[in-house]
Amino acid sequence: MTREEIETLRKQLHQYNYEYHALDAPTISDVEYDQLFQRLQTLEQEHPEFSDPNSPTQKVGGVIAQGFNKITHRFPMYSLGNAFSFEDLEVFDQRIRTQFPNVEYIVELKIDGLAMSIDYEDGQFVQGVTRGDGRVGEDVTANIRVIDSIPLRLNEDVDVTVRGEVFMPASSFTRVNQSRLEHGEDVFANCRNAAAGTIRQLNPKTVRERGLDGFWYTLVNAEELGILSQSDALDYLKKIGFKVNPEVKKFDSIEAVYARIQEIEQNRDTFGYDIDGVVVKVNQFAIQESLGFTVRTPRFATAYKFKAEEVKSTVEDIFVTVGRTGKITPNAQLTPVQISGSLVSYATLHNEDYIKNKDIRINDTVSVRKAGEIIPEIVSVDVSKRSVSAIPYEFPKHCPVCGEVLVRFDGEADHYCVNSECPAKIAEALVHFASREAMNIDTLGEKRVYQLHDAGLLQTIPDIYTLKNHKEALGTLDKMGEKSVEKLLNAIEESKQNSLEKWLFGLGIRHVGAKTSAVLAAHFNTIENIIQADVETLQSIPEIGVVIAQSVATYFSLEENQQLVANLLSYGLRPDFANTVVSSKFSGKKFVLTGTLQTMGRTDAKKIIESQGGSVSGSVSAKTDVVVYGESAGSKLEKAQQLNVETWDEARFIREVETS
Ligand code: NAD
Repeated sequence: MTREEIETLRKQLHQYNYEYHALDAPTISDVEYDQLFQRLQTLEQEHPEFSDPNSPTQKVGGVIAQGFNKITHRFPMYSLGNAFSFEDLEVFDQRIRTQFPNVEYIVELKIDGLAMSIDYEDGQFVQGVTRGDGRVGEDVTANIRVIDSIPLRLNEDVDVTVRGEVFMPASSFTRVNQSRLEHGEDVFANCRNAAAGTIRQLNPKTVRERGLDGFWYTLVNAEELGILSQSDALDYLKKIGFKVNPEVKKFDSIEAVYARIQEIEQNRDTFGYDIDGVVVKVNQFAIQESLGFTVRTPRFATAYKFKAEEVKSTVEDIFVTVGRTGKITPNAQLTPVQISGSLVSYATLHNEDYIKNKDIRINDTVSVRKAGEIIPEIVSVDVSKRSVSAIPYEFPKHCPVCGEVLVRFDGEADHYCVNSECPAKIAEALVHFASREAMNIDTLGEKRVYQLHDAGLLQTIPDIYTLKNHKEALGTLDKMGEKSVEKLLNAIEESKQNSLEKWLFGLGIRHVGAKTSAVLAAHFNTIENIIQADVETLQSIPEIGVVIAQSVATYFSLEENQQLVANLLSYGLRPDFANTVVSSKFSGKKFVLTGTLQTMGRTDAKKIIESQGGSVSGSVSAKTDVVVYGESAGSKLEKAQQLNVETWDEARFIREVETS
């Protein structure tokens, strides 16, 4: 039972890490993530017999994006342990103070951006590298160069490695999102995602335009320069030309540290950039050195994370929206309130049971939380403020868009509109097809799809490829100047080159996500073969279970879907898996697979690698290029680490496949 819970938590956290670090698109709040992480940590401490070096608690959670050179950090970059209460801080302090009664603490703001390491030789900027997985990062030198506040030349001709946080100030964030909205692109969820997405841009001009900034807080080679404390290191960094956060303060008791934390928390919306907590660090380097590091975090510092801010508001209305699969989501329209620096007017209500359990009614006074900047939610209802006339909410019986009777299947929490002609479902299906994970048609975001749909230019997926015949009509639409039209049509044209798995995923077949699409495309190679495969053949692929097999077979047995595919092919979409495209990530490289992969069998992982021009062998040697590891990987992974061979976890492998 415990073992199962540990395994489930590890799997969930791996997935959340991937979404957060690789896709810059988290699906749960940081607070929820931290709770799951803490639960796993506690279980692992109680059950050392289930320990695993690949557990998310044992690793720095980042990934390395394609398109950048990889650089091994001379000194690893660590994450930070967490504190959530004064008691947690006391435990942190006690552990240190019993050994070092004269310990002093530096309290710094925890800037919500991404960690960066920058190198200078003879006072000249030479290189900027992201934290990556802590051992290896991405060379983003060209992008760092264009950030105004990062000095290219220092005031002294020294060799230094400096670490800090690159972030997007609130003013840039608002401007960037405004412009994305105007261009029909998806907006960034928060400043951290915006900064991470920007630094991974391949074009430094875009980085410059977005207006990033940086604060610097670690001088890696301080002791070489005779500097003995964090406070002196920060002074020195300032002196030689770095931007150091002005809110830093030194204290000699944990009570004083806590008082400062409370002061910062109260002012957190006034800094002009996002912070998600405070970092408490031992000031004296000699003590830091004696305390050392765990595999993932320093023992001499901790991050105090702020609680998600809760604010009172009123439910003005409850309305439902229809998703691509017909799923009905209820939402609360709120009296607008400021939470964590942004204006919140809506909260998700998930489903009928959620509304019933919390007994949320129109006109209720509620507490709203915007944890980790994900979609806000209602935490509780203040029943004492409820008006006598407030009646329990009745879930709608009909689709708000097409009027079809809603269906709630046995054992499911959600309601569905099952009308295949429902206009809302059609528009959402188009949004999905054009999305980044599917055809990645830049500028065809949600707003634009709805605009084109409402204008009668876009009713079905194949219509995307006939838009070029309606140039004139496109040009008459709001915010569609000649350049925007050109950009949209070019992006559509380019999307035709996408490999089969991208548009297979874009079709939105039930239970067929991006990973399953990649497995199907790699296995069958052409769309024709997939259409012809029966349930049995589909199920013979190790990672395709009966539910997926039936869903795929049923989808392609319908004449309307066969016609849809035929139309797409007639517009020039690539009918096959792009295994002829030689990928530099795979081509000519030697791979070793180890551990249990969660989303595919080894045989298919092997096929995928081979289809991309790589080869797979059974043992790790200095000639191995990459070791791909799954759960419970053992000696092969250790050997790879000893030999400094590159290692990819499963999420990274899938991403490399999908983007190669
Ligand atoms: P972290 O954000 O908890 O702390 C470490 C980082 O703090 C450092 O790498 C550095 O980038 C940053 N930092 C900012 N100011 C600093 C300062 N003054 N001094 C030192 N460091 C400073 O750890 P992490 O490993 O970057 O990320 C883990 C956290 O990310 C989780 O605790 C969670 O909150 C969030 N997360 C969320 C999801 C999700 O799905 N919502 C998934 C993964 C991670």
